[in-house]
Amino acid sequence: MKFMGAALLAAMLGMSLPAAAADAVVDRLQQKIAQDPYPEYLATTLVNEVGPRFAGSDGYEHAVLWALQKLSAAGLKNVRAEPVILPRWVRGETRVELVTSGVDSLPLTAVALGGSVGTDEYGVEADVIRVESLEQLRQLSVVQVRGRVVFIDWRMPRTRDASGYGQGYPLRAFGPAEAGKRGAAAILIRTLSTANDDAPHTGGTLYGDAPKIPALALSNLAADRLAAALRAGAATVRIKLHTHELGAVYSSQVVAEVPGQTSDIVLLGAHLDSWDVTPGADDDAAGVAIVSSAARAIMKYAKKPKRTIRVVLYANEEFGGSGAKAYAETHADELGRHVLAMEADLGSGPVWRLGTRLPLQAEYFRRALLAALAPYGTEDGPRDDRGGSDIGVLRDAGVPVLAPLQDATRYFDVHHATTDTVDHLDRAGLRQNVAVYATAAWIAANWAEPIGRLPPPEPAPAP
Ligand SMILES: [Zn+2]
Repeated sequence: MKFMGAALLAAMLGMSLPAAAADAVVDRLQQKIAQDPYPEYLATTLVNEVGPRFAGSDGYEHAVLWALQKLSAAGLKNVRAEPVILPRWVRGETRVELVTSGVDSLPLTAVALGGSVGTDEYGVEADVIRVESLEQLRQLSVVQVRGRVVFIDWRMPRTRDASGYGQGYPLRAFGPAEAGKRGAAAILIRTLSTANDDAPHTGGTLYGDAPKIPALALSNLAADRLAAALRAGAATVRIKLHTHELGAVYSSQVVAEVPGQTSDIVLLGAHLDSWDVTPGADDDAAGVAIVSSAARAIMKYAKKPKRTIRVVLYANEEFGGSGAKAYAETHADELGRHVLAMEADLGSGPVWRLGTRLPLQAEYFRRALLAALAPYGTEDGPRDDRGGSDIGVLRDAGVPVLAPLQDATRYFDVHHATTDTVDHLDRAGLRQNVAVYATAAWIAANWAEPIGRLPPPEPAPAP
């Protein structure tokens, strides 16, 4: 059925399909992957045998050894650890309380944002000032904010295309700096979570040049409690937070290949690290499993591709992107040989849309991909897609990007939280992802024409 569909579509578009031999391989890959439990196995062992693997931690070093062993066992070639320097930040005691009267208080479940400074040993006790947006916060004066705790109370909507997170991300990234500039004592942000539970999600923040203040996320239930107290009148909170920034450490990230007939490279990326508070099943054991399993399937069920397919398990996506930068430095002399990059970093939900950033000359390639992905109902997506954050350095060097978009409807229930456990993985979705990535990687690695290069994209607008 699927080749009938692809051939029909191709005929309608007045174009020729990729070589028939390549189609037979795609068919075989898709059939084999549909029956293969390997991606579930791989994601599960990373979560259960390694668990939290924050950049710079012992858990991360364990993850590197895990990856070297698993990718070798999967039959991939040139499996190696490449150098990267990682920051080291650790959290300690975290306590947030709503002062109810005198010495009485109610606990508010909170988690420090990554890189947050702590309080002093006495902690902070201050009145709360509530805003609903970054714009509202920016309109407040130093007099209104100084010495108080800013509470950003914005609830993230559930979306399939992750646009809710796109809306909320600037609050977490820039809220602490905006509050710090205005003299706030600390900042509490309603967690960027779509789950109405007591598990707050952490994530990175960017202080920039602003005075650094303790920055924490409140669980949705804790934020509800604080919002209710504010509706009833004023609210005071106590915050005690210990965090430490330690020296940078030498570490590694993991690279493996399906060797091609040429040294041109199709890159499949995912990140090996997770936040410290989470076992990181959907973020990003899922992505590690997707790209590794796709390469393994090509190694196992296809013949030698024309171009080399390279899997990169990046070191530190979550806390500064040092892995992506190190990759670009290590491979500076071969960046020009990267013909395409794609990344998996939006969980295990099925791919429903194919975003791209391709030169015009690759239009037939784009259509051939969509035709080959027709069995999965993959929709045509934006043509100016930025792809994932780890492949941003490549994209900015003009490397074309494919961005298969996972269904993110449930992803932000658990993203960056203790609740991102194996039971949350979408097993059928994982297999579908592997099929999509393997199909796209195979076609890209064997496309008869050059895919071409692009000028760097316009910088993303500042929020
Ligand atoms: Zn991620």
